[in-house]
Amino acid sequence: MLIALLPGDGIGPEVIAETVRVLDRVTDKLVFETAPVGGAAYKAEGHPLPPATLDLAKRARAILFGAVGDPDCDRLERHLRPEQAILGLRKELGLFANLRPATLFKELADASALRPEVAGAIDMVIIRELNGDVYFGEKGMRKTASGRREGYDIMSYNEDEVARIARVGFETARARRGKLCSVDKANVLETSQLWRDVVIEVSAEFPDIELSHMYVDNAAMQLVRNPGQFDVIVTGNLFGDILSDQASMCAGSIGMLPSASLDANQKGLYEPIHGSAPDIAGQGKANPLATILSAAMMLRYSLGLAAEADRIEAAVGAALEKGARTPDLGGTLTTVQMGDAVLAAL
Ligand code: NAD
Repeated sequence: MLIALLPGDGIGPEVIAETVRVLDRVTDKLVFETAPVGGAAYKAEGHPLPPATLDLAKRARAILFGAVGDPDCDRLERHLRPEQAILGLRKELGLFANLRPATLFKELADASALRPEVAGAIDMVIIRELNGDVYFGEKGMRKTASGRREGYDIMSYNEDEVARIARVGFETARARRGKLCSVDKANVLETSQLWRDVVIEVSAEFPDIELSHMYVDNAAMQLVRNPGQFDVIVTGNLFGDILSDQASMCAGSIGMLPSASLDANQKGLYEPIHGSAPDIAGQGKANPLATILSAAMMLRYSLGLAAEADRIEAAVGAALEKGARTPDLGGTLTTVQMGDAVLAAL
């Protein structure tokens, strides 16, 4: 099975290298092909997402992505900046469902922004719709009748877009504890009223799933007050952008958190939620676990290798239990030593 490796910039190549070592240990079914992306691709080929990289991403069964972002490129025109590569990949590959698990390894309970007894109960997946909502509606600047400047961004979802992401939510819940919470603002927004109506319609296909609804303001509060109540949350692009970052920080260090962006056929792009961390790049300080855990998601969601995914996740837990810590977790291990610790646990 062909895997596109897009290491990118900064710490991206460092964390991808450790992840490939781990993948090679658990399966011999993968073939890797590497291509430049982000600032590295701009410097080599003049574009953050060169045609050959996009072609590899299209041919591959799944994409393992490091991170993009390079301070040298901060003054380029927007369409040439490294971060455009990720937006281009989402669009070109139709990646509409962003899955972010927020699970706290019990060994890291003190790394959470929440009290350990509250944080310890976190075990959820937030599913954010990626291709619609206020980000993609008509937008612009205009003048009011009295000549004042006015910015506007139109929020909209059509019922097919909602039904598609709702099904991802129900199916994810079915593979977990069977609870789906749909987050909206139906008390105020028509877009949200349609969202809620369609989620309820789709729920008829999933009678085994316990569906609930929550307004986004309450969801933000509940994520901090009692995050253990959530199994799977499904929400739109804007609310998901904010809530998924909030949930991440409740679950501990940025160096620990994986993500997946999926198309309609379970093809996906897998990446850590962190960026290229230019402040620590090249120093062996990066925590590779977020990328290693992203690879476990890839095995489970896109490649049908759930047992291998379980092995990787268990090995990460075992390494932490033995005290393996990179500097972001308060330890002294290098990136490679953390990779070694996971391999040893395997
Ligand atoms: P960042 O996530 O790169 O770093 C934030 C802080 O967390 C830094 O102090 C960094 O050292 C630390 N950190 C991040 N990952 C770590 C890891 N694995 N181990 C240990 N420490 C880690 O965010 P930023 O500094 O805001 O952005 C840097 C660049 O990354 C920017 O160019 C930004 O646009 C880009 N970015 C890219 C993505 C992506 O590729 N998907 C996501 C976020 C930011």
